[in-house]
Amino acid sequence: MTAVVAPASLPPLAARTTAVGGSPVRDILAVTARPDVINFAGGLPAPELFDRRGIATAFHEVLEQTPARALQYSTTEGEPSLRAALAERVTRRGLPTGADDLLITTGSQQALSLLATALLDPGDTVLVEDPCYLAALQVFGLAGARVVAVPTDADGVDPQALAELVRSERPKLLYTVPTFQNPTGRTMPAGRRAAVADVAARHGLWIVEDDPYGELRYDGEPVPWIASCEGAADRTVLLGSFSKIMAPGLRIGWLRAPASLRRACAVAKQAADLHTPTLNQLAAARYLDVLDAHVVRVRAVYAERRDAMVAGLPAALPEGSVWTRPEGGMFLWARLPASYDTTALLPEVVRHDVAYVPGAPFYASDPDRSALRLCFVTQTPDEIAEGLRRLAKGLGGA
Ligand code: PMP
Repeated sequence: MTAVVAPASLPPLAARTTAVGGSPVRDILAVTARPDVINFAGGLPAPELFDRRGIATAFHEVLEQTPARALQYSTTEGEPSLRAALAERVTRRGLPTGADDLLITTGSQQALSLLATALLDPGDTVLVEDPCYLAALQVFGLAGARVVAVPTDADGVDPQALAELVRSERPKLLYTVPTFQNPTGRTMPAGRRAAVADVAARHGLWIVEDDPYGELRYDGEPVPWIASCEGAADRTVLLGSFSKIMAPGLRIGWLRAPASLRRACAVAKQAADLHTPTLNQLAAARYLDVLDAHVVRVRAVYAERRDAMVAGLPAALPEGSVWTRPEGGMFLWARLPASYDTTALLPEVVRHDVAYVPGAPFYASDPDRSALRLCFVTQTPDEIAEGLRRLAKGLGGA
């Protein structure tokens, strides 16, 4: 006869898993998956613009012509043809780059994780913009970092405040999305970028420059990367992604970093997933030949959608609200009068079959509870207009 033994409780999960919650955007997306909801919450590229045929052709050719290579393990750093084509693309955009300077990543989200592994010990300090891209806050939180927000204005991080925080907090890195930032849509002007690079050069600081949106410019002039500013070359990591210009499902991003840091990231990547899928990399490399023409089409459509949202906001938001008019990207940031709490209001808004992301979770500290993020690229202008009418009702305006 075997004795019945009460099962002992299991060892707990790692402390970091309880310190960092799931992304509130994901939770909201789950609620708003119903087709009748006009979802301004997600950061989803417009699916009808995916170049289904062009991408299918690229995959087909790769499988027909180089099946043994496409279906095989590959190097951690990435497929040479993709690295070479990307290096040429980055060079053309004003930052001289060789194939060896790049590491292909499984989306730029993985680049953030690799950098956290390569640079951060628990307790290290990371500086972020306020507000900041949510999933970057998650990565830094999971790494056990102390996240400190740098004061920002309409042009991004304040270089004076940055210099003071670098002196007082001794951070390892500054994480910034200088072009069409997620969530605000704002862009850091060239002078400000040079000032940030100067602070990093004088005080010793890594800059992580995350640029998934830069090619989605609808008006205004391109601004050079921080990575190309004087004094920044040896201390700036530039991240790029095909998610917003090709397709997020491919999960292809890249990281350009000085050699020692890039090598540490490659070791971290080896441990994480060995390499980014070979087939996707080869197909993406092939698709690069036609990518520019595709991006021109996407830009034209997204510009109209940006305009539709900007045109509809005065009637949709309560009097006294202010919002950004981004020159590109996917997001617009609105601040309602201080008496509004966008987190508390969201369930009522969702009952009107429309959704936004409340602003509070984007802040590392002192959230602005009256802010919200709207994605303007996923719906047509008519749907945007209808969504904004529902938003007005949900907010109690109409
Ligand atoms: N950085 C920023 C600022 C983003 O907005 C996103 C996606 N929303 C990512 C990184 C991650 O993109 P991906 O992994 O698809 O390249």
